[in-house]
Amino acid sequence: MNQDYRDGPRRVGQVKEITSLTNPIIKDIKALSAKKSREETGTFMAEGLKLIIDAMELGWSIRTLVYAKAAKGKPLVEQMAAKTVAAGGLVLEVSEKVLSAITRRDNPQMVVGIFQSQWTNLSDITLEADDTWIALDRVRDPGNLGTIIRTADAAGAAGVILVGETTDPFSLETVRATMGSIFAVKIARASEQDFVTWKKKVSAYLVATHLAGAIDYRRIDYRKKPTVLLMGNEQSGLPETLARQADALARIPQQGRADSLNLAVASGVMLFEARRHLLSLSEDS
Ligand code: SAM
Repeated sequence: MNQDYRDGPRRVGQVKEITSLTNPIIKDIKALSAKKSREETGTFMAEGLKLIIDAMELGWSIRTLVYAKAAKGKPLVEQMAAKTVAAGGLVLEVSEKVLSAITRRDNPQMVVGIFQSQWTNLSDITLEADDTWIALDRVRDPGNLGTIIRTADAAGAAGVILVGETTDPFSLETVRATMGSIFAVKIARASEQDFVTWKKKVSAYLVATHLAGAIDYRRIDYRKKPTVLLMGNEQSGLPETLARQADALARIPQQGRADSLNLAVASGVMLFEARRHLLSLSEDS
C-alpha cells in the first residue's frame, strides 16, 4: 500500500487528517474493493467500532484505523486509535465524504479498520473429536458466504473450508454479512483434489449434502468421528467427483414447491444438527 503522503495531510499528533478523495492513501483504501488489491496487499476492510474492538481483542493485526471527524474524542475510538499506533498502524481522521467513498455507502459507519487477512493452512488443520468444519464447494454469493461464516460461528463450528474457485471471504460484502464472525472463525481454502487428499489423511467423517441424498440428515450419527459437512454450489449443486468421497449423502426433506433450500439456510440446518449431536454427547458424559 502506498504510504507516501505527498499531498500533505495535516498531522495532529499521530493522527492524519484527510479530506481529499484524491489523497493516495484514500485511493489505496478504496482500491481494496477489488480482490486483486486485497490479495496484493494481504489486507481487507471491516466497518464498525464494535467489530474493530472484537477483532483487536482476538489478536487480528490492524494496519489502518479510519474514523469520521464526528467520532473524534469518543473514548473507545481514542482507545482503538492508541492501540493502532502502538501496533505500528496508521490513524486517519477523515470527512464523511471520504468515509462514504471508502465504504461505498451513503450513511457509512463512523469507524473503519484495515486488517491483515488471515488464512488457515489446510495442512495445519488437525481435527479434534468434537470438531465440526463446513466445506463449501465453489460458493459464489458473498452474502451466502458471509451468512455461513456467521452461522458456523454461532453453531460453534471450528471453521470453514473453501473448495475450488470461490467468492472472496475478505470482500466488503462478505465481511459485512459475517457481522464480525470473520474474526472468530478459521477460514481455509483448497483445490478439490487437495481437499479430498486432506479428508483422507485426517480421517474426517464427510457428510455431503445432496438433493438426491440417500439419508435424512436427522438420521446421521455426527459423533462417529470429527465431522466435515460439505455443501454444493448454489447453481449446480455438488459435483459427482466430490459426492463420491462422502461417507454419508444427506438430504433435508422438503415440502411445498421449492426445488431446494438456499445454500446458507441448508448450511444452517446442517450445522446446528451436527452440533446438537455433539453437545448431547458432552451432556451425556
Ligand atoms: N440446482 C442445485 C442442485 O441441483 O443441487 C441446487 C443447489 S442448492 C441451492 C445449494 C446447496 O444447498 C446444495 O448443493 C446442497 O448442498 C444444499 N441443499 C439445498 N437444499 C438441500 C436439501 N433439501 N437437502 C440437502 N442439501 C440441500
